[in-house]
Formats: sequence, structure tokens, C-alpha cells
Amino acid sequence: MNFHFEVLKTDSTGARLGRLTTPHGVVDTPAFMPVGTAGTVKGLTQQALGELGVQILLGNTYHLYLRPGHERIRALGGLHKFMSWPGAILTDSGGFQVFSLAELRKISDDGVVFRSHLDGSEHVFTPEKSIEIQQALGSDIAMVFDECIEYPADRERAAASTKRTTEWARRCRDYARAQSASGRTNVELSSNPGQSLFGIVQGGMHADLRREHARQLVDLDFPGYAVGGLAVGEPHALSCEMAAIATEELPKDRPRYVMGVGLPEQLPDYVRCGVDMMDCVLPTRNARNGCLFTSAGRVNIRNAKYADDPRPLDERCSCMVCRTYSRAYLRHLFHANEILASILNSHHNVAFFLDTMGKIRQAIALGVLAEFSSEFQARIAAGEP
Ligand SMILES: [Zn+2]
Repeated sequence: MNFHFEVLKTDSTGARLGRLTTPHGVVDTPAFMPVGTAGTVKGLTQQALGELGVQILLGNTYHLYLRPGHERIRALGGLHKFMSWPGAILTDSGGFQVFSLAELRKISDDGVVFRSHLDGSEHVFTPEKSIEIQQALGSDIAMVFDECIEYPADRERAAASTKRTTEWARRCRDYARAQSASGRTNVELSSNPGQSLFGIVQGGMHADLRREHARQLVDLDFPGYAVGGLAVGEPHALSCEMAAIATEELPKDRPRYVMGVGLPEQLPDYVRCGVDMMDCVLPTRNARNGCLFTSAGRVNIRNAKYADDPRPLDERCSCMVCRTYSRAYLRHLFHANEILASILNSHHNVAFFLDTMGKIRQAIALGVLAEFSSEFQARIAAGEP
């Protein structure tokens, strides 16, 4: 299967129902992508992910490069084979982690010199290196290497970073093209010759920079586009405004991916900005801290009030956890520091995000997304069940 994107329906709010075809299967959009940082969505087996209906997940280039190493994964047949995941995989460029986790040594137009957060060893990421690693991993969708800036960033800083990111996007695209034209066999180059490369729109919280950067990336002609640098501490309304400005400039026949969002109640808002793909670590990260997302708002399962509560975590959720276990049992597992607590909590949270996106798709198909969104958001805002 080659990469292909089809918009099946666009509703009056601008939300799109679509179908993304990748070398590892079809993805119904709008899609939520669980984050599989180091070749695992923490707390969930690949079998469980399949049963939950996950069609695409994320892998982190920075983490996999440092451990176990991209050449090792290439030699073992690529990331799909290494982690025994038959569905689609998107890899990030490593940029976000380098800028947020590593100790930065030097940033220049050439690339970034950094120290590993694991052992302090020094490494260099350039746009070309990022593509080389992602080709070795063999993801279905690779991302261009971009500069991620802090929030808030003034106009001058955001403009300089946007300029650099455009140049890096061009280098990523040219390197990927040169590799596929080099005549090297597919196995030498990548375990996934059908890999696509997405551009990333940056520009901070500056509307004109977002617009201009989106246009520059469209000129570079990527098969899909992401909007990066959001969910970095700005108000949600501003985040949506920036996403909407970028999607307005992006071609209608290409998928749009907003990186690193969001809370369940925010997902319909991004969809209404014309966004097709999202990813977020919240369902798994919060699960391990006992913070559970439900259709009636957030539940902190540590609370004493759940100790004698025989009800399922979320009475509207049909996941394995909610069908099988009580709030009292989940609270007990958390307090006893049992491994099963993380497993069950992660299972429900990922199920809840996927289920929310499934309901959003259904609402778009039926033409009732606005009604669905206000009811869903009001129920969550009402607070703990
Ligand atoms: Zn559930």
C-alpha cells in the first residue's frame, strides 16, 4: 500500500472525516495516536492496542536513537518488526526531545549538539541525521527536523526559528529524495520504502509568522503537514487560533496533524479547526499518576471516596477495565503500588481517548459535531462523578 489521503466529508464547522492509507494499514481520521515513546505505549501490550482499535501510534526518534540505537533496529528489520506492531507508525524528528530533555551544547544552522539525558554522552542531530534515523526505524510517516522554541517567544526569536525550520525542512526533503534516488536497495536504506515525510509549521503564537511559514512549507510540497509548537503553556483558545490559521493555508487534500494535543474536551475543538491527526502522552502519563479521564470529568483514583465505591470507573465506557473492575479495586491497586494499577489505568485512558475520537468521527458523519461537542464538553466540565 502506498501513502494516500482521502477526505470523505467536510462539515459546516470545517471538521473533516477522512481515510489515510499507509504501508501498514488504513487510519480513519480524525485519529488519536497513542505515544509509544521507546517502542512501547507504556502499560499496554501490542495485542491490547490492537484490541482497542489503535490504527497508528507514535515512536520517538530521540529515545530510540539513544536506546537501543537505530542501527540495531534497522538490523532487526525496522521498528514494526522489532516491536511486533503490524499497524502504522509515525516517528517524530527528535527535535522536540532534544530541545526539552537533553542538555543543549550548541544550536546552529547546521544542527544541534546535545548531551544524552541517559549518560551525558555527546551527540549531533542535523536534519539529515534525523531522516537517516527515521529511515532506519522504517516508520510510515517521518517528520522533518524542526526547531522548537520556548513559550512565550518574542516575534524576532520566533521569526528566526521559523526561517531555520524552513531551511531544515528543505534539507530533510532533499536528503530523503536523494536517498531514494541513490539506487541503494530498500533494505539498506530503510525497512519501509513507502515512508512519507511531513513538514511542520512553526511560528510561535504570531499569526502572520504561522501563515507565512505554512505557505513556505506548502511550496516545499510535502504529502502531509503538522502544526508544531502548540500546547506549550499557551491558553487553549490561542492554541486553536494558531492551528486554524495554519490549516487555512494548508492544501485541503493533505492530512493535517497537530502535535502534542490535547485534553479529551479539547479534541473536538482541534477537529473543528480542520485537524485530522493528534497525539498526546496524557492518557498514559496521567494514568500512572492515578489521574483518569472519564465522560464525567477527571477522576483521581487515589481519593478516599473511591475506597468503598463498587461502580465501574466510567459507566459510559465499554472498555475491558470498566466492564470488569470497580473503582474500589482500582483505588486499592494504586495504593498498594501494584503493577496492575498502571496497566489498567493506562488501558482505560487510552480507550477513552480512542472512543472519544470514534464518537467525533461518527458525529461528523451524521452532521452533528457541534451538538456532540457542546454536550461532551459540558458533561466533562460538570466535574467528578
Ligand atoms: Zn473504561
